[in-house]
Parts: sequence; C-alpha cells; structure tokens
Amino acid sequence: MPSSLCEPHTSSSANLEYLKQDDWITSGKLGSREAVLVFRTNILNPKTRKTLSERSSAQALLETKNREDYASCQKAETSAPACSNDALSGGSTQKNIYLIKNPQNCDKSDKLKFCSPFKKMLNRYSSSDTSISSEGEAEPSRSIENKSRVLKASQNSINIKLAEDEMSKESGYDSLGPAQSRTNTAEASEEDPEATSEDEVECGVNMPAYKLNITYKFQQTETKLLRKLFNVHGLTEAQGENNFNLLWTGVHMKLDIVRNLAPYQRVNHFPRSYELTRKDRLYKNIERMQHLRGMKHFDIVPQSFVLPIESRDLCVAHNKHRGPWIVKPAASSRGRGIFIVNSPDQIPQDEQVLVSKYIVDPLCIDGHKCDLRVYVLVTSFDPLIIYLYEEGIVRLATVKYDRHADNLWNPCMHLCNYSINKYHSDYIRSSDAQDEDVGHKWTLSALLRHLKLQSCDTRQLMLNIEDLIIKAVLACAQSVISACRMFVPNGNNCFELYGFDILIDNALKPWLLEINLSPSMGVDSPLDTKVKSCLMADLLTCVGIPAYSPEMRSHYDQKWSRFQRSSSCQRQPTAYPGVALAQKSKKTKKKGGAAAAAANVQAQLTGEEQRILRHTRQQYSRRGGFVRIFPTDDSMQRYGNFLDSSTGIPISTPTVQSQTFQTPVLQHNYNQMLHLNLYCQDAGRHGRDDNSEENRIGQYERALETDSEIPFVKKAAVAKCEEEGRRLRKVMLKKISNGSELTQFQARQTFSLYLESVLRRLTEDPKDNHEKIILKFLNKFGGAVKPPVVFRNMQSLKVASKARSAMVAKLLGDFLENYKRDTEAYVDSFDHFGMIPSSAYNQFLMHAQESDLEAVLTLHTNVTGIMPFLYNRCGLSVPPTPPIPCGLHGFLRALPSMVTTSGTARELSKYDGYFKNCDKEKIFL
Ligand code: ADP
Repeated sequence: MPSSLCEPHTSSSANLEYLKQDDWITSGKLGSREAVLVFRTNILNPKTRKTLSERSSAQALLETKNREDYASCQKAETSAPACSNDALSGGSTQKNIYLIKNPQNCDKSDKLKFCSPFKKMLNRYSSSDTSISSEGEAEPSRSIENKSRVLKASQNSINIKLAEDEMSKESGYDSLGPAQSRTNTAEASEEDPEATSEDEVECGVNMPAYKLNITYKFQQTETKLLRKLFNVHGLTEAQGENNFNLLWTGVHMKLDIVRNLAPYQRVNHFPRSYELTRKDRLYKNIERMQHLRGMKHFDIVPQSFVLPIESRDLCVAHNKHRGPWIVKPAASSRGRGIFIVNSPDQIPQDEQVLVSKYIVDPLCIDGHKCDLRVYVLVTSFDPLIIYLYEEGIVRLATVKYDRHADNLWNPCMHLCNYSINKYHSDYIRSSDAQDEDVGHKWTLSALLRHLKLQSCDTRQLMLNIEDLIIKAVLACAQSVISACRMFVPNGNNCFELYGFDILIDNALKPWLLEINLSPSMGVDSPLDTKVKSCLMADLLTCVGIPAYSPEMRSHYDQKWSRFQRSSSCQRQPTAYPGVALAQKSKKTKKKGGAAAAAANVQAQLTGEEQRILRHTRQQYSRRGGFVRIFPTDDSMQRYGNFLDSSTGIPISTPTVQSQTFQTPVLQHNYNQMLHLNLYCQDAGRHGRDDNSEENRIGQYERALETDSEIPFVKKAAVAKCEEEGRRLRKVMLKKISNGSELTQFQARQTFSLYLESVLRRLTEDPKDNHEKIILKFLNKFGGAVKPPVVFRNMQSLKVASKARSAMVAKLLGDFLENYKRDTEAYVDSFDHFGMIPSSAYNQFLMHAQESDLEAVLTLHTNVTGIMPFLYNRCGLSVPPTPPIPCGLHGFLRALPSMVTTSGTARELSKYDGYFKNCDKEKIFL
C-alpha cells in the first residue's frame, strides 16, 4: 500500500487493543494485506442479532459519553485545546466499528465503530463460539505496531487502518477513489420469516464487509444458507461479471475466469477437480495408485469397472467372486440412476456406467444400513493442505437391511441417500438440533459415541478415514496441480469443499464411495442447519476472504492487469534452491538433527515460501471446527513415499515425474518445507502445530456446540387464497375460451406447479392408481429432460408398497427438478398478441390449487390442441392431442397418452428386456 495512504501511526498498545476488539476481522489489522473476514453462526439468530445491536448501541453511547467526559476532564486539567471526537478518532477507540440499529439516525463517526459485542475469549476460534481470539500473526519480518497508519475513507465513512506495504509504496498509488454508491442488496430470506429485511439491514450494513464493499457471486447454484450467511455478514451480491471477491459456483469453473483472478479473489473450486469428483475418474486415479504403489496401500474403494469398455474384465471378476454389483451413472449424484444387479448380464451395454462391487456387510445402526458424509476442505494442492471437518452426517436407510437378493430392488434399504429416503413414509427427521442420534440422520460424533459404547475402536476408525481421504486426494492431486500451475495466477485463489461419501463395513473398514463436487448445503432439519451453518461459517473464515477496501482492490486490479499484460498469467514458482536445499537439509539432519535442519531451512526460505508458511499458520489459527489432517507431524513419514522426492508433488504416473514438473525454473518442495517448519522440534515462537492424533480424535468425538440457537425455519408456505384462486381460474378459463393462449413458459410453469401438487399428494397420501399413472408417464417421458430420469428396475414397481411409493416420488421429484431447470430457458416476460398477459397469469399461479391448475391445463389442451408444456410448438414429433376428460384428475389420467411410445420411450425400452429375464430365483447376497 502506498505510503501516501498512510497517516501518522498510533501507539503499539492501541494496535494490540484494536486487534483484540475487532471480532469480524482476523489475521491482521483491518486494511492490512493479511486481514480476512470472520464468519460466525450466532448472528444467524435474529434474537442474538437484536441483542448484539442493542448492546452495541448502548456501548456506543457509553463510549461517546466517556469520550466527552474525558475531553472535558482534559480540558479542565490542562490548558490544551479541547479534545473533540474527531481528534480522538485517531486513537484506539476510533478503530472500533459499532453495530448501530438505525444507522441513519446516528452520528457518522459512531457509525464507523464496531465494538466487541462478545467477550468470551477462547483459545481456539470456532464459528460456534460467540467470540474470536485473533490468533493471526503479524508478518515475521515486519513490525506492524510501528508502521500502521490510519486511512480515512470519508466517502463511505470507513476508517481503515493500513499496515504499511512496501510494495505499494513503490507503485506510488495514492488516489482515494470515491467509494461506490451502494444500495442494500440484502434480501429477506425465504427460509427465515423472522429475518425481515430490517434484520438484514440492521446487521449487514454495519459489518466491515459491507463497508468494504466485499461482494460474492453465485454461479449455477443457489444455497440459501450461504446467501444468508453472506448477507448477515455484510457481503453483497456482485453486480458485474468479474468484480466479485468470492465466486461460489455449483459447477466446474471456466478457465477464463480462473486465469484472470486477482490476488484478493477467491473461488470455491480448483481446476480439474473432476479428477476427484467424477466417479469413473476417481476410481481410475485410485486404481493407478494401486498398480503403482501397491494394492495394500490403496485398497480404499470397492473394485469397480467402467462399462462398456471394461465389460470383459467385469465378467472375469464376476466369475471369480460372484456379485452383486451396484451400477451407477458415471456423472450423477443423489442416488439417481443407481441400481443393484446380481450378474453383469443384467447391465445395459450401451451406456457409460461405473459398476462397483456391492459391499454386502455394511455397518448397521439398529439394523439399518448407514453411510457417512464427511466434509473435506482442500485449501492448496501444492503444498497439500487438507482439513476434515470435525462433524459429519450419518445417513440411515429407512428400511431395515436384509441381505436377501429379493430385496435388491429396494433403494430405501440399500441406498442411504437422503434424497431417496426422505420420500419414504417411515422416514424420521429429528426435530431438535440436540437430537443427534434420532431418526434417519445422525451426526458423526453421535455415531462415534454410539460405537464406543459398543466397545468399537473408534480411534482406529477415524484414523482410517483420515488415511482414506489423504490417499484419495494424493491419487488425484497430480493432475490438479499441473492445472493450477497453468491457470491459477495466485496461490490462494482456489479452495474446495468436497463431500466424501464413505461406507463403513461391519469390520469397521471405511470404503470410499464417491467424492461430491458441491456437497449439498440444503437443510431439512435443525440438526442439518446446525452442522451446515457451522461448517460454512468455519469454512469461510478458514479460507479467508481478504478484508480489502475498494481502494486496495483497485490498486491490485491495476497492478494485476499491468502484470498480466506484461507476462503470462502462469504462476511461476520463485526461483528456489529447492533440490540443493532439500539435500542440504537432509545432510544437516544427519549431522545436527531435525531442529538444526529446520532452522537452516527456515533461514533460507524464499519470499514465496515465507508467504506459504505464514498463510498456512494464519489459516490454521482460523480453522474453527476444521481438523488439519495433512500435514501432521507424521504425514511425511506416512505419505512421503508417495511424493516426488525433489518436488514433493504426489506422483501417480511413473512417466510424468520427469515430464510435467520439470520446468526451467529451479524446483521447490513446498510439502517438505512446510513439514520442516511446522513440526520441527524448535518451531520458535510459533510452537508446533497442535493437530496431534490425540487432539484430532478428541475433536471428532465431541458434539458440535453452538452458543446461540441457529434458527431452522421451514420454507414458508405461500399463503394461497382458495377463493381468489377460483376467481382467477374463471378469468383464465374465459380468456382461453375466447382464444387466448398460454406461452410456452406459462404452460411449463403451470405444469411444474401441477406436478408439484401431485408429488405432495403422493408423499402425504399415496394412491396406487396415481402412482401407476405417474410411472407410466415418466417411463415414456422421463428421458426428455436433461439429465434423463429413468428407472430401470421396472419389475420392482409392480408391487405396491411404501418403498415403491418412495421410489415413484423420488422419480417424480428428479423429473420436476430437471423440468424446472429446462423451463428457465423459456423465460419470457413480454406480453405477446393473443397470449395471456403475464402479470395476470402470475396472479393466477400465485393462488392456484391443484384443481385450478388442472382446469386450466385441460381447457387449454382441449381448445388449442397443443401441449406446450411437453413439446415445442414447432416440434416435429408432436403426437396428436388426446381428448382430456373433464372432472377431477382427468388431466392426470390422460397424461400418459399425451406422450408417444416412440422417441424418449425407445431410450427406455432397451432396459426392459433384461429385467424381464431378471433372475427370479432367491439368491442370498
Ligand atoms: P450418489 O452419488 O448417486 O449418491 P453413491 O456412490 O454415493 O452415489 O451411492 C449411493 C448410495 O448407494 C450410498 O449411499 C450407499 O449407501 C450405496 N452404495 C454405493 N456404492 C456401494 C457399494 N459399493 N456397496 C454398498 N453400497 C453402496
């Protein structure tokens, strides 16, 4: 930061005071390069927010009064000029930012201040705590106390303290552009009716993030929980394409975006993450490690085959060890398209699927199969830094487990996915966040406590889970690292939260089933809300969203674009006497032990290495509930063999070692460097990081504590007025009778809402004949949405049961989700001639019940003879419209005949054959 931005420094004690008081910024003073935002779950609670705000206002008043008293006292005691608020604002109190309930009514100088509302200082920061101790360190080489300055950004009323930044000094940057004028984009959350927009304003606008104009951007995802967390912390939604501080995407990122990231920007994926998150890629990567490093080290996934390419290998394996096999589409999630077969000849040959050995002896809780969802945060691949969240989720199947082959069709017995089991009428949700071992969703810590009571070795179980995670990441890392080197311009731009699905067998061996790219943050119970809120708040704090002011950002943007114009955006490792140094340190180690080696290495760290070390330590101090599982004190001993000896890169292909990573630049070994510095005997003033085995295990077994309740509010049902619905229905029917038509978008909207009502009915009160109709319709039309919704195991659907109802509901739910997504492509807000005006129609949709929707769809289809909710108007293969019987459920009964048996159905008929031949004998698994 340029010196011209800096004003005379304050005293060191004032700075220390400042660091302690600021609850929402950590790792450095606000305005320094190291400062990052703090996220906490307690302000999700409207009551806490209110108290916080009131306390802050009271404290603001008190401090103002104190200042006045002090000023008059000073005036009386000395004949010095009166000490005005302005004059005092250069001192330590000025550095607080208060939360003020009505910012408009407050004195400007007060608005800037933010006091420490929570004073419960703990050793370790956690989102669930009500306070944070600022454990972040100052740059070792710099004395912040002596060099900090005060920047007055009067336009947006923020006073920001800046640590002197040598680099910026050189740039000569000194302009303070006017702060952006901003409108409050915080919106009232649908999830939390208590949280009025006033709540958001009250909280968000007084947060440092708001004042600093820190923005987020969602791309192809919408996580209400995350949006709410951002809003209450004062982040606002980015307006432009690339001017975000944090990009949160639900899909892999475009390389163009990655390439142009500025140093302060963060994105939630690494390039080539699909190496971990595509089922087939993950298996291939691990299989390669099995060949390269030995099966005994990488026996972490059930034996699998990618079909159709490996059909023959599958048959050979089947002949050796008989099935059953579980068949999964290569790129799908949430249990979609999964089925279990006894023999390979029951698997269609013309689709790319992953076929895995079915684990027939899973760990069961009270007779129910269960699996684990654990959350793994990778903040860097080189050096490798992996955290495991202390709490995870255990998902139980609704139907008791039975190995009998007759039951293989039953997904509510064999699959633990919530998205399947939630439709089963016996599914139990816990209704209290403290109920961690109730119903069909438990917490990981509750499972560990339950197993411990049964004398199971939970310590070894958790160590094996850590080992599995590290090995899975090691197996895929090489490719991600080379992509990062090619495309990611700054070391801290990317981070990623992976959802690991792990099945534990009854010998307590964990098996990796898959790694999810964007683990669901949807919340359906207070327990879910607690775990996921804490997880997200801890994640954001740990990753660290730089608390840069708009001025600092534009400074970086200018520098960054200059840099990009003048050089390639590839991140070049700083020249480093890596190999030589590593060898030297090895020699020293022999001579003088690890401490001497570490001291030697530390003394010779390059600028980049110092940065990595500093960031790693700071990040660790912000880890909250995350447990760092790599590096640990013994990680080099355990995994050093899988890393390249000179670069430290995990090597999974024998040839690449000498190709990909041999650059003209001197090599570095960040993994070794970190390990030596974090775990050497003499870690200096920092001490050794305390993620010892004992501490880690203790943390997993401990229940997640939250000081203030995190509200779980079900999505508020839109209050529909039956009478108004009926009135508007008459209006619409009249319009249609008079020749008006629905646009394609309106027709699809109506159909979505109609199917939603049917789905609700099916789950609340299943009706055999309605299920059959829906199945018939989906069988014919499920392939028309993207991705197609297909259900192969037709045989299982013949017998009515609770499980069948759940399966039909799940299929319809999947179809609806895809259908709605496809509908977005038809959005059309213009009123066209001859069509029903959109505002009137939206009114109707707001109040329409199932019967109203059905009446409109029926009349429209009968009058116009077209079905715009299923087919494009100009489509070639549109079947003739069947006459739709009037009366209750007439539209539903006609639904299957609205779709042809050709086209999409052809897609499905290929599966029917083999199910007809399906082995009817009773086979035991
Ligand atoms: P998805 O991504 O669609 O959820 P998963 O691989 O996680 O697919 O599998 C879904 C469910 O199927 C899991 O919850 C698990 O219970 C079960 N499952 C998956 N693979 C196996 C296996 N090899 N053996 C036993 N059960 C399995």
